[in-house]
Amino acid sequence: MSKSSFPTAIQRSNVPVTIDENKCIADKGCTVCVEACPLDVLAINPLTGKAQMTFDECWYCLPCEKDCPAGAVSVEIPYLLR
Ligand code: SF4
Ligand code: SF4
Repeated sequence: MSKSSFPTAIQRSNVPVTIDENKCIADKGCTVCVEACPLDVLAINPLTGKAQMTFDECWYCLPCEKDCPAGAVSVEIPYLLR
């Protein structure tokens, strides 16, 4: 797979959901956040072996953050929705 074929067009720092790659244990087989997300916007990046957001869409429903066993997921809720 070439580096550009995984959907990483959006800058990770600009998306509402960020994954701490030092904490994420997707490389040990975890896919909890990927399965929890109703929008399917999270995926394991085969290049890094870590979860990441692939599309800048989010319902801020938070199971990804709450269910992550490693505490690696941070959801930045926009000011207007708080
Ligand atoms: S907050 Fe909800 S919609 Fe957004 S990434 Fe997490 S599970 Fe998916
Ligand atoms: S739930 Fe947490 S540890 Fe598991 S893949 Fe997602 S970010 Fe990584």
